Amino acid sequence: MAKKQQEICSFCGRPMPEMFLGQEEGTYICSECIEEGHRIISTRRKSNALNSDELSVDNLPTPQKIKDFLDLYVIGQEEAKRFLSVAVYNHYKRLLQEITNDDVEIEKSNILLVGSTGTGKTLLARTIAKLLKVPFAIGDATALTQAGYVGEDVESLLVRLLQDADYDVNRAQRGIVFIDEIDKIARKSENMSITRDVSGEGVQQSLLKMLEGSIVNIPPQGGRKHPEQELIHVDTKNILFICGGAFDGIERKIAQRMHTQVIGFTAQQETAHIDQDNLLQYIAPQDLKSYGLIPEIIGRLPVLTYLKPLDRQALRNILTEPKNALTKQYQKLLAMDNVKLMFDDNALDYIVDKAIEYKLGARGLRGLMENVMTDLMFELPNHKKEGKQKPFTITKEYVREKLENVDFVRLQQAV
Ligand code: ADP
Repeated sequence: MAKKQQEICSFCGRPMPEMFLGQEEGTYICSECIEEGHRIISTRRKSNALNSDELSVDNLPTPQKIKDFLDLYVIGQEEAKRFLSVAVYNHYKRLLQEITNDDVEIEKSNILLVGSTGTGKTLLARTIAKLLKVPFAIGDATALTQAGYVGEDVESLLVRLLQDADYDVNRAQRGIVFIDEIDKIARKSENMSITRDVSGEGVQQSLLKMLEGSIVNIPPQGGRKHPEQELIHVDTKNILFICGGAFDGIERKIAQRMHTQVIGFTAQQETAHIDQDNLLQYIAPQDLKSYGLIPEIIGRLPVLTYLKPLDRQALRNILTEPKNALTKQYQKLLAMDNVKLMFDDNALDYIVDKAIEYKLGARGLRGLMENVMTDLMFELPNHKKEGKQKPFTITKEYVREKLENVDFVRLQQAV
C-alpha cells in the first residue's frame, strides 16, 4: 500500500514519495530500496549459481581465454590444454544449467590427464583453479585407502578442498580436486585372487562414489570422525575432478590394441600413419581398462587427454617463458637487493644440458638453479647499494663452476 510523503524509509532514512509498510508497525521501505534489494538478490543468485563471488554467467572465460591463460604458465602441451579448456568451460556451463529449466542435463566432464611425471599435469590443474578463483585441492591416490583401512580416506581430499575454501561449503562444492597417480590404484592382475585388493580396486570403488556425485560427511576439523561430532555435508556433484597419472608401460597396451585393430586389409596403410614414438597420443578408454582401471571409473572420467614428454626446447622455455619462470623469480629476488640480474643464453643451455644428462626433468631445473644461485644470493645483500641497479650476468662459466661439485644423484632423488 502506498504511503504519504512524511514517512521515512527504515532503510535509507529518507522521506520518499512511494513507501510501503513494513511488517512491524511504524516501519517503512521505499520503492528505491526495494529495487536495490531486488538487484542485490538477483546478482547474488546468479553468481552463487555458478561458483564463487568472482565467477558469473557474464564473465565465464571462453575456452580460448582459458587456453591463453594456461599458455602464460604452462609450456607446450597443446592438446591437453585444448581438452582441458573445453572441459572446464563445459563444466561451468553445466553449473549454469541450474538456473535454466529444461530437461537436457549436461553431464559432468571430469578429466584424466595421462603423461609422465613432471610434464605439467598438476601445474595445468592448479593454473585452471587460479584462473577461475575456485578452491583447489591436490591429493595423491597412492596415499588413499579404502574406508576402514589404515591410511587416508578418499574424503580427506574434500577436507583439503574445504580448508582451501575457508570452510565455505558452497564454494568448496564448486571447486577443483586434482588426484595424482591414479594409475597406482589400478587393479593388478596378479593380486586379483587375494580376498581384498586394498591398494587397488577398493580405493577405486571409494573414489567412484565421489566422482559420481554424492554427499560426503566430513568432520569439521578434518581428522577422524567422532560419533558426537557434527559433520559437514559436502555434495561432490559439482566438484570438478581432474585425475593424473603416468601409466608407465601403457604404450604397450596401446600398441597391442592398435595392432589388433589394424590387422586386416588396410593394415599396411594404417600402420604407416602410426607415430610409434608417441603412442600416448592414441590413448583410448579401453587401454585404461587393460591397465586395470575399473570401467565405472573410466566412465566417470570422460575427458581423456595426454601430455608429451618435455623435450630440450620445452625445458629451455620453462626456464624463461612462463609468467613465473625460474629466471624471472631470481631476477625479482635480486632486484630487491638492487641488482639487475641477467642470464647468458649459453648459461641457460648448460643448465638444460645437465637436466637432460641426469634425467632431472622440469622438476630438476629448480634444484639446478638453486645450486647456481645460492652463493650469489648469500653474498650480494652484503654489498647492497642504494641508487642505480648494479648489473650481474650469469655466464656459462659461472654455471659450470657452481655445478661442478653438485651431487647429481641427490638431485635425481629429489625430483
Ligand atoms: P606432474 O603433475 O605432471 O608430475 P608438475 O605439474 O607437478 O608435474 O610439474 C613439476 C614442475 O615442473 C612444475 O611445478 C613446473 O615448475 C615444471 N613444469 C613441468 N611441466 C611444465 C610445463 N609444461 N610448463 C612449465 N613448467 C612445467
